[in-house]
Amino acid sequence: MATNGPGAQYTFCTTYDAATRAAQVLSASSTIILHCQGRDLGLPDGELSIIALSDPAASEVFLLDVLLLCDKHNPALAPLFSLLERPDITKLVWDGRTYLLEIADTYGVLLQGVIDLQLVEVSTRGKKSEKNLRAQHTMRYFKSVMKDIRNNPRLLDGIHRLLGLDSCAANLRVINALGGKDPAVTNLHRTDGGSMWLHRPLPAMLLDYAAHDIWLISRVADVLLPRVSVEQLREASARYMRVYPTREAKEAHVPLELSKFVPLDVVDAPLPGAPRYYCARCERTLSLSCFGTRQTPTEEAEGDSDTPVNVCSTVLTGPAFQRWTVCHLCVLIACRNLEVQTGPWEWTPLL
Ligand SMILES: [Zn+2]
Repeated sequence: MATNGPGAQYTFCTTYDAATRAAQVLSASSTIILHCQGRDLGLPDGELSIIALSDPAASEVFLLDVLLLCDKHNPALAPLFSLLERPDITKLVWDGRTYLLEIADTYGVLLQGVIDLQLVEVSTRGKKSEKNLRAQHTMRYFKSVMKDIRNNPRLLDGIHRLLGLDSCAANLRVINALGGKDPAVTNLHRTDGGSMWLHRPLPAMLLDYAAHDIWLISRVADVLLPRVSVEQLREASARYMRVYPTREAKEAHVPLELSKFVPLDVVDAPLPGAPRYYCARCERTLSLSCFGTRQTPTEEAEGDSDTPVNVCSTVLTGPAFQRWTVCHLCVLIACRNLEVQTGPWEWTPLL
């Protein structure tokens, strides 16, 4: 067992027996923290390196070497797989968008019972008009299109720019200036693309980093979880985990800057059975509330190119109505980045 920064310790599990013991210790808790490290997780060349698990207080942290423990048929891993699959054991994660896919690809295990603290953070920000940093985080990104937003404040409805774990911890004041992530490792992430996670033996600096992330998640959870009804966020977390059903989907979304935002139809559940519509930019199929809608204009008004994209939460169908072919989030990002349109962005009948 090695020490790790402010209060946390970890056990590096490099044998199947050690993985079994880790699962036995953690099975005493109905809530565990889960965090994954690896190269380009969720992308076509993505590969898991470490699965980090702990109790909610991060007093027992286990770092499982996935590259060494790669035989998914080894019975010693069964208790671990059970922990991951059981919906009644809550897994607290920070940004688990790639976990479902990576864990399924590596071990053939379906991760369930997840509460994503990134969504908890978003849902506890308060109104966008509030003057604190978290509440203003989305608005600041769209400063260059603020005139459009002021004309139609509802353009930002349901749009949330994500915070990183470190930034969130700093904003919540659960860490001081020296308590954040190791800058040497975050720099390596930027320059190396995460390939360092595939080196063996894994440097102590990376093990410390993985354990420290668990400690950060624990501290953030301590502050945020009492502020929400956790049960309400289970389904949203499950939707969040499914936004990248394939590695290609994430690869397509990164250059569009969509990975910086909570995807639409995640925090607010789409109405069951309601029709879904294709966005020509992000290529997701979304509920109608994610698109601008309007009444079909008369022939004389048809040429009016300045017609604003309206946000409308009311379900409108039939030829008397039209929707924009690109979702609200895509419209805002594309306008902010002065993006050249590559597809047909226009009004289309709501049939
Ligand atoms: Zn879109």
